[in-house]
Amino acid sequence: MQDDTECGKCGLCRTVCPVFDTNGIETLSPRGKIKISKSGITSERAAEVLLLCAMCKRCDEICPSGVDVTKTIIEGREKIREFMPEKINEISEVIEKTGNILGRKTEDNQEIKCTGKLQYYAGCMGKYRTEDYNATIKILNKLGIDYYVNKETCCGEIFELLGMDAEMEKFRDKNNFSDDVVVTCPGCYNALIPAANVKHFTEFLDNFLNENENENFKIIHEPVRIAYHDPCDLGRRLKIYEPPRNVLKKVEGVTLVEFKDNPENAKCCGAGGSVMFLNTKTSTAIAENRVKGIEKHTDLIVTACPTCKVNLRLACKRMRNGVEVKTISEFLGDCEIRDL
Ligand code: SF4
Ligand code: SF4
Repeated sequence: MQDDTECGKCGLCRTVCPVFDTNGIETLSPRGKIKISKSGITSERAAEVLLLCAMCKRCDEICPSGVDVTKTIIEGREKIREFMPEKINEISEVIEKTGNILGRKTEDNQEIKCTGKLQYYAGCMGKYRTEDYNATIKILNKLGIDYYVNKETCCGEIFELLGMDAEMEKFRDKNNFSDDVVVTCPGCYNALIPAANVKHFTEFLDNFLNENENENFKIIHEPVRIAYHDPCDLGRRLKIYEPPRNVLKKVEGVTLVEFKDNPENAKCCGAGGSVMFLNTKTSTAIAENRVKGIEKHTDLIVTACPTCKVNLRLACKRMRNGVEVKTISEFLGDCEIRDL
């Protein structure tokens, strides 16, 4: 009897893979990567091939044989560690030295103290590229929510995707999580699940706004047409599709429109799985393909991930389409919260 996790080589995964879509090279397709991963080939080229995967999980969803393609790729990455580019090895040293993946100064790792029991874990892309961080704090303050921010160490998620679980745990566990935690980065969310009672900020806000429905305030923005982009790590990986949309729908002035491929089939932004870090050309091409799926007359793309935002914004700039890109916190930070 055939093992139902064996690749039947049907090629269906090629029809959805954003990396294959940009280059059409069989070796770089999900099917090609499975072959390399299982072959035992260890070389620089094998490392290059296996690292060129955005971990978007579209292949996992579509495979009729039930192959866990991303898991197979991660297992393959584990075997070719000695051939990984120097850049990957340097990340570990950078986090060891500075506590963050961007190598920012340790004095930028600020804390906010309060007596509340909610920890906001901003993650590297929040804390050091401060637009999303400042906006999240602004909203928490505006809504009168008690929270605190600790000095943080990177959640280590990048190492999980490279098949280096021990390295991930080493960094993640340098953080102290004793209360409920909210994050704005879906990558941090996945890394923190075993260590904390974690929620995405949009899940938290969705609950908060429902519970406070009868309070005398409303959130207002001038009329705007928003396309919501599902981050792969929040959507396909965690199945969180509705909370961000619910929050946006509660804002007066917002017309929510959908991308052509949404939500379970949402195309990837191209940044994940270290593709943006290692191969900007491919990550930008993938982001442009995603942006092509917006409706005409979309004013703004909103996403629930600070990394998706960076890559989609880059694509919009290159395409000169006049469409802005913000995280959901940044958008809400621009809204007025009016007492009634
Ligand atoms: S991984 Fe699944 S979808 Fe892709 S070729 Fe193999 S059987 Fe087909
Ligand atoms: S996870 Fe996404 S990028 Fe990676 S092989 Fe599958 S479809 Fe392609």
